[in-house]
Amino acid sequence: MIGNKYSLISKECEMSRNASQGEFDSEAIVKAVREIIRAIGEDPDREGLKGTPERVMRAYRELFSGLGDDPARHLEAVFEEKYDELVVLRDIPFHSMCEHHLLPFMGRAHVAYLPDGMVVGISKLARVIDSFAHRPQLQERLTNQIADIIMEKLKPKGVAVVLEAEHTCMIIRGVKKPGSVMITSALRGICKTNPSTRSEVMSLLRG
Ligand code: ZN
Repeated sequence: MIGNKYSLISKECEMSRNASQGEFDSEAIVKAVREIIRAIGEDPDREGLKGTPERVMRAYRELFSGLGDDPARHLEAVFEEKYDELVVLRDIPFHSMCEHHLLPFMGRAHVAYLPDGMVVGISKLARVIDSFAHRPQLQERLTNQIADIIMEKLKPKGVAVVLEAEHTCMIIRGVKKPGSVMITSALRGICKTNPSTRSEVMSLLRG
């Protein structure tokens, strides 16, 4: 297990290094979107489509802004606090882009942790989620990344993260199953190992 954990971390470090090296290339996106419009059989110079490559570029800049961000920076300001019960933050809205189709998936994140002397402002947890979500993602990886960074920076006794999301790639294409919700969870520390903590935290998170 330990081996797995470290190989996961080094893989993530590699990914964030690559991301920080890559610059957002507005011009290339505008050109590429213009090409896509042409390739689907449309006229990129048609009145309604003329500004589209530019608009898509600006949307992508926002949707992928997490690539230029270091999520850990949102967890630098932690407070020492003797509170030793579960901290639960439910129903944090998030949206991300599925890396297989570059189509959005969106839903709610629920986060709980059992502090071990350190707590963090709840808005910071929401920022961490956004930072990881604003990249090409898989819901499973997003869930793990949120749990792992909270473990790393806050060093709590345990963490639980549950994400519920609808994937537009399942709704508007392929199997076309609107209404289906994908639920993923990541449990760390005592939230994973202690059965009673685990069931308490899961019942709080799932509501
Ligand atoms: Zn997809």
